[in-house]
Amino acid sequence: MRPSPPWWSALPRPQWSKLEPVPQNQAWFEVYRVTEGVFAIYEPRHFEEVISYLILGDRQAVLLDTGMGIGDMKRLAGELTPMDIIVLNSHTHFDHVGGNYQFDTIYAMDTPFSRDRSKGTPPDEARAYVGEGQFWKAPPEDFSPEAYQIRPFTITHVICDGDTMDLGGRTLEILHTPGHAPDEISVMDRTNRLLFTADTFYPAHMYTHFPESDFDTYVETARRLAGLADKVDWLLPAHNYTPVDAEYLKKMYAAFQTIREGGGEYETLDEGIRKYTFDGFYLIVKGKG
Ligand SMILES: [Zn+2]
Repeated sequence: MRPSPPWWSALPRPQWSKLEPVPQNQAWFEVYRVTEGVFAIYEPRHFEEVISYLILGDRQAVLLDTGMGIGDMKRLAGELTPMDIIVLNSHTHFDHVGGNYQFDTIYAMDTPFSRDRSKGTPPDEARAYVGEGQFWKAPPEDFSPEAYQIRPFTITHVICDGDTMDLGGRTLEILHTPGHAPDEISVMDRTNRLLFTADTFYPAHMYTHFPESDFDTYVETARRLAGLADKVDWLLPAHNYTPVDAEYLKKMYAAFQTIREGGGEYETLDEGIRKYTFDGFYLIVKGKG
């Protein structure tokens, strides 16, 4: 599903220029201060354009996802904060857990999917993620596409819907938001009116068609999140750019309803997969029958 012109023709994305860049010394990453105590860690050189977040309280730091595992995430996080770091996984797709192996404390949901993904992705499988056309700019010099893998990791703390994490002066609430992946969460900072939507909402192609995805479950999640749209100002997604207006929660739910009612503009891709185009995002959906 590689678009033409190439994906990187949209880079650098202008939205990032509105944020304050934070200096650090790995060319692989770009780091921006999104708001007080929230850093976006962006990996623009790879097709996924994944975004991890470092979220600071007064006495505890949470790293929401660890990215591709191509840059040194642990070194970067250590440069950004002297505090202990808890890794919190938004879900266990490869591009969000690549640096997990570097950390001792990992919070994630306990589902058969997450248990399977925690075994890692060996080079013969992971190689496909770093092949031809996947890089905008070169990876680090010591990176070998042939040896690329997602290393196994241990989920040390199981999280559930409704759990809270007190970081000192900042509380994060875990919302189980399955659909894209069964172990997908969103993270709400109610006081600061932020919702980290991970892969449940981002301003690009959202995937509902993977074997582990479930369209109807995703619709239910979209309905739940639309109900929170008035309680947050900004969404902080896990791909492409951040933040985006919380109004998108309502737009996403409306889009799902449109599709469920048989409406919406789509083009058919390989294997009957449909790409629905909406204002500011796309939904990739399994064709019916
Ligand atoms: Zn994902």
